[in-house]
Amino acid sequence: MEEKLKELKQRLQEINDLDMIGAVLNWDQSTYMPPGGAPARGRQMALVSRLSQEKFIDPAVGKLLDDLEPYADRLPDDSDEARLIRVTRREYERATKVPPEFLAQFNAHGSESYQVWIKARPENNFAAVRPYLEKTLELSRQYANFFPGYEHIIDPMIDMGDYGMKAASVRAVFADLRAELVPLVQAITAQEPADDRCLKQHFPEADQLAFAVDVIKAFGYDFERGRQDKTHHPFMTKFAFDDVRITTRVKENDLGDGMFSTFHESGHALYELNINRAYEGTPLGGGTSSGVHESSSRMWENIVGRSKPFWSHYYPKLQAVFPEQLKDVPLDTFYRAINKVQPSLIRTDADEVTYNLHVMIRFDLEMDLLEGKLAIKDLPEAWHARYESDLGLRAPSDVNGVLQDVHWYFGLIGGMFQGYTLGNIINGTWYATALESHPEIPADFAAGKFDTLRNWLTENVYQYGSKYTTNELLERVTGRPLNIEPYIRYLKTKYGELYEL
Ligand code: ZN
Repeated sequence: MEEKLKELKQRLQEINDLDMIGAVLNWDQSTYMPPGGAPARGRQMALVSRLSQEKFIDPAVGKLLDDLEPYADRLPDDSDEARLIRVTRREYERATKVPPEFLAQFNAHGSESYQVWIKARPENNFAAVRPYLEKTLELSRQYANFFPGYEHIIDPMIDMGDYGMKAASVRAVFADLRAELVPLVQAITAQEPADDRCLKQHFPEADQLAFAVDVIKAFGYDFERGRQDKTHHPFMTKFAFDDVRITTRVKENDLGDGMFSTFHESGHALYELNINRAYEGTPLGGGTSSGVHESSSRMWENIVGRSKPFWSHYYPKLQAVFPEQLKDVPLDTFYRAINKVQPSLIRTDADEVTYNLHVMIRFDLEMDLLEGKLAIKDLPEAWHARYESDLGLRAPSDVNGVLQDVHWYFGLIGGMFQGYTLGNIINGTWYATALESHPEIPADFAAGKFDTLRNWLTENVYQYGSKYTTNELLERVTGRPLNIEPYIRYLKTKYGELYEL
């Protein structure tokens, strides 16, 4: 059995290496590659991804898993080896259900539709993307049907990012959250909006970058094991256990944009950098779900990076970097500016409180599309109608409507949005639980110290990689399943004080 496990690990390491090679190609394309490289790069990335897929769905992998199953059953359920065998089995089952021809067709369609969207978006041309979206919807339904027996057609898509979550559970949690958020947003927006003009001055790029890098070093992002480069749409990527990179973008007329994006991506990286090293090169060696990944990115972006104690330490430093711009802006004004709540049209610019409403709109529309209740041709209007009813705003065009997010224009419809809000809910849970054992955490932030929180996250969440599912992690840490209460309490406390509710 030890021989077989060794062989399985060797094969998994090679597959993982191919995936990481693909990540390098993708990172280069998004950062430094000249436009001329695009056609060859597309071909090269497709090749690497096909090789990885072929290696993984090799029947020899299935045979090894079959042979190892009785061995895994004899091990304690909690052992790393038993978990490795089970998680690999789960991924293997999923991968082998989808025919390679479908994947090839889907990937080709995805890159074509992405190219069309890139052009259609600035032109406000929904008609151009409509046939591609129709095809995407059809392919998404086909994909779901490779997994017969689902409760809801969106479940196989949710499963990819947030294994163990289902339409029914997500819907129920979102309904509860919505019931709390809508009155909170109403109470806040009934008041004078915060003045955020202090953020909209000129802030030179180099100074912005240097300040944010100092902060994420203090968070624990290790530049011996990572680096930051510029891109259009920031992301985190991983090439190896000791090479986890982030990207950012900077707007010189908006201080918050690049800074919070850097904090956010560093939170994704901290998760990956603190996984048990022994899991490297196996399916246990990455974050367990989009929800838990977002719980980490949003922890460092929002719960830490938009908190009063954090800024009581860092604001004088920021003022020293930008004396002209900020010398006359009191901490309180700045703190209110970075936490301004205002219903808006664009998800990625939304504040902590209204953000989840944007996600719910997309999630509901995805379900309606997949269920056949909504046709693609009616999607732009359905989008506007939901923004009017949920946020009280109507976009003047589809650019700030249905054309704004990239997700549907390169991937499946379904499964990609719920993780953002699950992440918000979960980070509230982690934070409340960490505070119970370490009430000193906010005082640490005020002293520029973040190791108590980071170590708590490593001990309870990060180190396990994909060993436990989202639900298992929640049960282990809190003794109960996903629950919105700590997150709602966090929002109500913070914004109650900010807005004197
Ligand atoms: Zn993220």
